Amino acid sequence: MSAQASASTLAPTVIGHYIGGQHRIGSGARMPLHNPASGAQIGEITLATPQEADACVAAAAAAFPAWAQTPPLKRARVMFRFRELLQRDMDKLATTITREHGKLLSDARGELLRGLEVVEYACGIPELLKGDYTEQIANGIDAWTMRQPLGVCAGITPFNFPAMVPMWMFPMAIACGNSFVLKPSERDPGASLLLAALLTEAGLPDGVFNVLQGDKAAVDALLDHPRVRAVSFVGSTPVAEAIYARGAAAGKRVQALGGAKNHMVVMPDADLDKAADALVGSGYGAAGERCMAISVAVAVGDATADALVERLAPKVRALRVGDGMDEQAEMGPLITAQHRDKVAGYIGDGIAAGAELVVDGRGCSVPGREHGYFLGGTLFDRVTPDMRVYRDEIFGPVLCVVRVADLAAALGLIEDSDYGNGAAIFTRDGHAAREFAHHVQAGMVGVNVPIPVPMAFHGFGGWKKSLMGDQHAYGPEGVRFYTRQKAVTQRWLADAAGRGTQFAMPAH
Ligand code: NAD
Repeated sequence: MSAQASASTLAPTVIGHYIGGQHRIGSGARMPLHNPASGAQIGEITLATPQEADACVAAAAAAFPAWAQTPPLKRARVMFRFRELLQRDMDKLATTITREHGKLLSDARGELLRGLEVVEYACGIPELLKGDYTEQIANGIDAWTMRQPLGVCAGITPFNFPAMVPMWMFPMAIACGNSFVLKPSERDPGASLLLAALLTEAGLPDGVFNVLQGDKAAVDALLDHPRVRAVSFVGSTPVAEAIYARGAAAGKRVQALGGAKNHMVVMPDADLDKAADALVGSGYGAAGERCMAISVAVAVGDATADALVERLAPKVRALRVGDGMDEQAEMGPLITAQHRDKVAGYIGDGIAAGAELVVDGRGCSVPGREHGYFLGGTLFDRVTPDMRVYRDEIFGPVLCVVRVADLAAALGLIEDSDYGNGAAIFTRDGHAAREFAHHVQAGMVGVNVPIPVPMAFHGFGGWKKSLMGDQHAYGPEGVRFYTRQKAVTQRWLADAAGRGTQFAMPAH
């Protein structure tokens, strides 16, 4: 498909809010939107004013009581219809994502399919909300627990998955009976409006799902709003920490997923061809702009490192960089020119710190797309833990090889990292794999799998600075996050029984 062919099917060029079932352009400042592959301006986004943020929360608050009373089975039916509509409009959504984000069209479809899985999980909400019941806890007394929705929930999402990450949140929140305000990334907001329109078409009552476009000011308005009961955030660690502190101080329930620096350990007995393929896919896929990207390959032993780098280097040099709409491309541009320059700055930094630059992605140019924000794949060997290229989340197509002596040293390296999102091991040794899975200090683990993004029924979340809060996203923890438990104890006795006052603490 060419970039021009689908232009008529894309999101509107002035991207505003979706409040109470209505599109609102908004009266706030406007920010230009660019296609990262061409550098061309493709539209504008309006940034919410405090009054618009207030109107958005008010619409969600007004819709909440009736939606909370809607039987879970009826809520599930809306999710079933939404699932069908998502599949119907998959191409339109994917094209919008590629145009604003830059990722490959196939990758945009992939993120939609991963989001769809959470919608499918949310379709089972009648079963997921079932409480516990204990009969006869004392004479004539039964007890049970139920889970009830919280009220207005807010979701603040990053640029790198403009559809999937919102779908980690709102299908669960809405199926649980809450209303929702999504504040998407201001860098690729188009998908949020398409999702909102599909929810309305699926029969979701007005106001249950709303979209507020904006930047920090919009986020702060949501964090400070007394009607917002819970906040789900996904983005960089410094912002996650600030949101967790501000939201929790205001008495809200908060889950704040932050950045990552994911390691993949390659053992001497691993199938090195498979390990190299996995590293190229997970290190350079989506130009490294994935929270589950592998950015550090930990080679156990010098012989493993030499053999691995020998396999990686030609693959990285051969990466086909191009417009995400080009079916031949393997890696698209970075999100902005500033981010591309920042990542290029890290490459200079790694050289200055003494890392061995095996493949240099700087100076990459794509014919016909000379103004795009491209950077080629970059590979460093002999990186050490004191270097910034090792410590910082670069969020670009830069893979660092670190050499260690044994598995214990690899585990120690991962433990010392500030981040703990994901970690993987490639090995043929079952015992090493088991030891790794048991001891590694990360929330999501892959064994001979490079990007272990858990399925919708398991939940997603890292450790350490990759997640602030108690509950992971989606899965059973998602249900717990978007509901609160109530425990009921009831006694029904025959009329004459149970009379008389008792002053001691009831006990058995
Ligand atoms: P970001 O932190 O810059 O922005 C995320 C969201 O926060 C956006 O909606 C943005 O408008 C808002 N925001 C930005 N600065 C803010 C501030 N000072 N106060 C309040 N709100 C603010 O992140 P990004 O660049 O859009 O996304 C990339 C980051 O997201 C990477 O660090 C990546 O690892 C992380 N990420 C993490 C996960 C995960 O599951 N842990 C998943 C995807 C992305």
